[in-house]
Amino acid sequence: MNLNFPFDPLKRAAEVESIVMQGDKRLYYRFRPAPYYGGIATADAVGCSFLCAYCWNYNRNLNPARFREFYNSQQVSSKLLNIAQRKSFNMFRISGAEPILGENSFNHLIDVVDIIFQSRPCSVFILETNGFILGCRTDLIEKLKFQNLRIRICLKGVDEQSFELITGAQREFFAYPFKALKELEKLGINAWPALMGDLFSHDKILGLKKLLEDYEINAQLELESLEAYPFVLENMKKRKLNI
Ligand code: SF4
Repeated sequence: MNLNFPFDPLKRAAEVESIVMQGDKRLYYRFRPAPYYGGIATADAVGCSFLCAYCWNYNRNLNPARFREFYNSQQVSSKLLNIAQRKSFNMFRISGAEPILGENSFNHLIDVVDIIFQSRPCSVFILETNGFILGCRTDLIEKLKFQNLRIRICLKGVDEQSFELITGAQREFFAYPFKALKELEKLGINAWPALMGDLFSHDKILGLKKLLEDYEINAQLELESLEAYPFVLENMKKRKLNI
């Protein structure tokens, strides 16, 4: 894929979705039990609207077309349910990529969540998303009304400048995840913002909290820590990002 920084993330999302979706099937490269959240069945996908300097899956998301294994929602759910059964887990997620790139990938995600809740109604599904497409397409959010769905919106910057530097996407798209959070709260859906806290000063984080207040978003900001793999540090250096 040709990519000039900063890029238009809407165009990139559409282009990536056309690569990683085939009908109702999506590209995945791995299914695994993961230790996070106390144990969670995880499906690792490829393809994102952003290309964050600190992404642990940077190279796969840079070039998702080299993967070949497409799975429909029934196959993904079965694999996740098998892992959960084997490991006595009660939690599920999709990781490694952005689950929502457009309507097609969104519908695939909804089907995966729906099949899992039909089989395990008391389990919890954590939707980890950058919130970009949800902010652009707030009309989709209604369909996320599942009782045990928890939505973690990973904000990538504290302002337009840091958003562009970290994601590679044009700064004018910074506000969209906030719109998603606001709409999710309005509909009473369990969602909260998260930020890679290691990258920002105390004052910058306070500034982001103020911005969340200005948007009347009440959910608490979660601060996450960087997984400092050597290639992550190298990518951050190339983008001139300091910890
Ligand atoms: S939004 Fe997430 S999956 Fe996408 S590039 Fe950034 S860190 Fe990776």
